[in-house]
Amino acid sequence: MRILVTGGVGFIGSHLCETLLNQGHEVLCLDNYFTGSKRNIVHLLEHPYFELIRHDVTSPYYAEVDQIYNLACPASPIHYQHNPIKTVKTSVIGAINMLGLAKRVGATILQASTSEVYGDPLINPQVESYWGNVNPIGARSCYDEGKRCAETLFVNYHEQNNVDVRIVRIFNTYGPNMSVNDGRVVSNFIIQALKNEPITIFGDGQQTRSFQYVDDLVNGMMLMMNNDGFTGPVNIGNPGEFTMIELAEKIIQLTGSASKLSFLPLPQDDPKQRKPDITLAKEKLGWEPTVPLEAGLIKTISYFDKVLSE
Ligand code: NAD
Ligand code: UDP
Ligand code: UDP
Repeated sequence: MRILVTGGVGFIGSHLCETLLNQGHEVLCLDNYFTGSKRNIVHLLEHPYFELIRHDVTSPYYAEVDQIYNLACPASPIHYQHNPIKTVKTSVIGAINMLGLAKRVGATILQASTSEVYGDPLINPQVESYWGNVNPIGARSCYDEGKRCAETLFVNYHEQNNVDVRIVRIFNTYGPNMSVNDGRVVSNFIIQALKNEPITIFGDGQQTRSFQYVDDLVNGMMLMMNNDGFTGPVNIGNPGEFTMIELAEKIIQLTGSASKLSFLPLPQDDPKQRKPDITLAKEKLGWEPTVPLEAGLIKTISYFDKVLSE
């Protein structure tokens, strides 16, 4: 198949492009390089079935493809808050353009949605039927509401125009190819630990997240894309739930670091807890994560160790 991956040079997109090429597909990797880096895909450039395109999804794009993975969007709070209007445009206009493309060529299109559609959830774990608790005018709303509107568009293009859509709600994911300046918690803590610098805990560190290794996510996204007609939304995440203090302690232990914890103010609207209910993914896709936190962290630490020594 010929497969378009938007946001293809980013953290998740680069892993997805590589896996799709390994399966024998032709990959069109489209990105505007806002947060992604060529470094993540430089080893794919010589591959005869790999094509790299500099393009912004807020402008129309024309190609003949069988499948589209729509990942283009900054994902880290510091990046998506850098230019909130652009973040909304990327999610909403980007979704419209990619859905228009899917409609024209009859491609199946998968949206990389997010656990952020649940906002600061009032139930734990979060099930797909939960509508969420989102502040529409807060610091995170450009991302949360942009992604919620994209889901709406996907459902409407499916119902109104018969576009074959898939929606996955991705929970916190980590692994090699995260950018050093990404700013999300796993990369921040690992880099700080490797440099023996203070580990920056926002708030009291009792908030929880569930961390999924990138290989599990890529596997789940591909199962969802290729399943027969189940459109979702479906949660894809690892239900293991950890406080930020627990995460920091685990990373200090695995790196043998001399770092100490340093407590900083909690950002506005920072969700207190997050943990996926993955019953639906198990039932519909036979999917569940296989990489435990410690095993995934070891691989990620060795990646950042290499990057920092370059
Ligand atoms: P990332 O920032 O590494 O990758 C995003 C990519 O999109 C980058 O390469 C960036 O340059 C590109 N991009 C941004 N705006 C664009 C635009 N207007 N046009 C074209 N390209 C553009 O982030 P990631 O972690 O790889 O996230 C990928 C997708 O998965 C995002 O849509 C994100 O919202 C979603 N997601 C990620 C997580 C996570 O924990 N990593 C969780 C939930 C959802
Ligand atoms: N679009 C695109 N590539 C295509 C087809 C459409 O980028 O191959 C864009 C197009 O510019 C349009 C959007 O997708 O703005 C939505 O397309 P749709 O057909 O739904 O709407 P319309 O063209 O009627 O606005
Ligand atoms: N966080 C932290 N220190 C950091 C970066 C993040 O304590 O250096 C916290 C952040 O406040 C949040 C959690 O870690 O409670 C996860 O943050 P991240 O930005 O990785 O993802 P998100 O909040 O989008 O889940």
